[in-house]
Amino acid sequence: MYIKLIQPKMQKRPMDTDIKIHMAPPLGLLTIVNLLRDDHKVSLENENIQPICYDDHPDLVGISVTVDTLPRAIHIARRFRNQGIKVVAGGIHITTASHTIPKNCFDALCIGAAEGTWPQIIRDMQNGTLKPCYRCHKPLRSEEIVSPAYDFLRPSEYLYCNVVHTSRGCPFRCDFCYNSGNDQPYVNRRIADVIRDIHAVRSKHIMFIDDNFAGNPKWTKQFLRAIIPLHIKWNAAVSINAAFDTELLDLMKQSGCQGLFIGFESIHPDSIRRVHKVQNHTHQYEKAIKAIHDRGIMINASFVFGLDGDTKDTFQDTLDWIVKHKIETVTSHILTPYPGTALYDRMLREHRILTHDLSRYNTAHVVFKPANMTPKELYHGYLQLYEQIYSLKNIARRLPDTLAQWPAYLMFNLLYRKYGAFTDFLCKRISYQRIGIWGEALSRYI
Ligand code: SF4
Repeated sequence: MYIKLIQPKMQKRPMDTDIKIHMAPPLGLLTIVNLLRDDHKVSLENENIQPICYDDHPDLVGISVTVDTLPRAIHIARRFRNQGIKVVAGGIHITTASHTIPKNCFDALCIGAAEGTWPQIIRDMQNGTLKPCYRCHKPLRSEEIVSPAYDFLRPSEYLYCNVVHTSRGCPFRCDFCYNSGNDQPYVNRRIADVIRDIHAVRSKHIMFIDDNFAGNPKWTKQFLRAIIPLHIKWNAAVSINAAFDTELLDLMKQSGCQGLFIGFESIHPDSIRRVHKVQNHTHQYEKAIKAIHDRGIMINASFVFGLDGDTKDTFQDTLDWIVKHKIETVTSHILTPYPGTALYDRMLREHRILTHDLSRYNTAHVVFKPANMTPKELYHGYLQLYEQIYSLKNIARRLPDTLAQWPAYLMFNLLYRKYGAFTDFLCKRISYQRIGIWGEALSRYI
């Protein structure tokens, strides 16, 4: 069979340039490529970087769907289905909110891990018995997790192809997160499999792109010991509790950790409490930051605005806190109740959903009624905070104490955040891959 896999075009946020959509390849679809390519012809089209071809007559189309790309995915599916081609939809939104997907948009829904669903989809497709829904019933075992087909990529189209995952899921269930809407347990891969992927991406700088790289500290410590001899630099996302495990932090430093992405979400305890982010205790934030900074590791702090404890003052309070603690990079979002999550269910119950236009559910629009401000105040506060964090004055005030961190710090703050449009201009003329390689080389001086 000929199977075409599609990543629909994502919605950029007001502050994003095309760098955002060229950042990294779709690992989920590359995993499906590896599952199928021994027995079938497979193509992958990422609409963020190339137009979709509707004229090559695949036998089956698979579309990966996030909440904000659902409308686009439905449009793409319609064009193929009009030609009599079967379309399967999968991905995080389908897995979390399959019950909300309008009927008759796709021929089949794929719920859960590709490893537990696609083999059966293919068998049924070949037998002419494709069913409307495929669900991965059993929790995935480590040895069942398939590597992405890294060799299938055209690296020049992406800033970073050095993305590797070590796990699936997260042990926590924060109300606003996709993980609150699924019951799959957290699972780590086999250490040898991850190391094979690290070699496959051919880079000395690895981005681990797990929901939670340290979801099982015992496994993470074993893994970190195993990668010390590789002499790589790496970045990862962890939950804040990782910052209170001294042995874990020391091993992170020893194994080349350069930066940690952490969901602080809010500096207000009431806001945290209302979304059941049980591992976050705001009175411990300073201690966590100090433990990480003491080891020369930078922090990318993620914040969510519009939580029920937030007021108009939250933006200024948060900015002051970020500058005071010299947080190196910040990612901010407007609270977005994704269908299928605990937050969405609560917002629905409280009649606070303002729009069901899912293309606006990309954390850069206000789609619900905030508790203590107007939607307009929330939107403007969010935009203004971003401007202020990345003002030249505040970039200078947040400069890390360690001189060796300045290249990576300035590169991210100036070339990606502040002057991203100029960097994107260079990427388009030179290549995303080459600019990414130069960036990596610069960061290795740390
Ligand atoms: S810790 Fe992060 S990844 Fe895990 S459930 Fe919470 S928001 Fe999601």
